[in-house]
Amino acid sequence: MSELVLPVYEDVVAAAQRIAGHANRTPVMTSRTVNEEFGADVFFKCENYQRMGAFKFRGAMNALAQFTPEQKKAGVVAFSSGNHAQAIALSARLLGIPAAIVMPEDAPAAKIAATREYGGKVILYNRYTEDRQQIGKDLANKYGLTLIPPYDHPHVIAGQGTAAKELFDEVGELDALFVCLGGGGLISGCALAARHLSPSCKVYGVEPEAGNDAQQSLRRRQIVRIDTPKTIADGAQTTFLGDYTFQMICQNVDDIFTATDEALIDSMKFFAERMKMVVEPTGCLGFAAARGMKESLRGKRIGIIISGGNVDISRYAEYLAGPR
Ligand SMILES: *Cc1c(COP(=O)(O)O)cnc(C)c1O
Repeated sequence: MSELVLPVYEDVVAAAQRIAGHANRTPVMTSRTVNEEFGADVFFKCENYQRMGAFKFRGAMNALAQFTPEQKKAGVVAFSSGNHAQAIALSARLLGIPAAIVMPEDAPAAKIAATREYGGKVILYNRYTEDRQQIGKDLANKYGLTLIPPYDHPHVIAGQGTAAKELFDEVGELDALFVCLGGGGLISGCALAARHLSPSCKVYGVEPEAGNDAQQSLRRRQIVRIDTPKTIADGAQTTFLGDYTFQMICQNVDDIFTATDEALIDSMKFFAERMKMVVEPTGCLGFAAARGMKESLRGKRIGIIISGGNVDISRYAEYLAGPR
């Protein structure tokens, strides 16, 4: 495991060049209300405005763009019920690569439809009786497909890091950066950018309170596995860090915090009401945690990555209408 070749900042720079022209350079937004509430300068990097609605397009595009001609011809396989599936399907279509996406048969119909619309061939499985990893591996072996995992891959990590690179390039150095955290691909890449472009910036991960495996893993310096957490943050229901992301988090991340589902809903309402922005529950993690510790952030320059905006619209309406 210690022999893994971890990505470095130069890989993030190369990724930025590779995905330019495909990925959106997403806006950095500010809010006077937030700045007053915090007594700080807060910059939101809005990946909810990325293509297909989340930062995952960056990593997927960076990975697929490096396929050899043989790999391109055979195709890519991914297993995911969420944003990674759509990111792979869209990137593959743009590059003319066939894509097979393994999804649970009870995944939201809208997500299955979106993946198909982006051109992915959806392979459904029963999540209670079948093993998606095995299905993905079997497909890879049988048809010579290349498997691209959602976070534990150097090209995926380098691609995700371009989000923070763009933020620092635009606003300069920061005192702290808050990053939503599931399997750790986004924060691993963003921390590389921070270490290079703003060396004294603290890098904080934020995961759902119901599933704090990364927090435990960082503090114990070993990968801790948990059961699938019950949380509305469906993009961060991962149960363990990857081998790459664990090492990179131990090297470059200062601390990991958690946010409750209630705090995520409060943040979602705030984004909708005050900033006119649709943000999915997982995308609210960074802001929710920063809000909870704003006294310690007074007078500072803070970056917050909003990771995505894909939320079922009727469920979203329920979140906004609910009590609190
Ligand atoms: C995947 C995802 C995350 C978590 O990213 P990791 O790289 O797994 O840590 C956070 N937010 C959204 C919207 C996602 O799709």
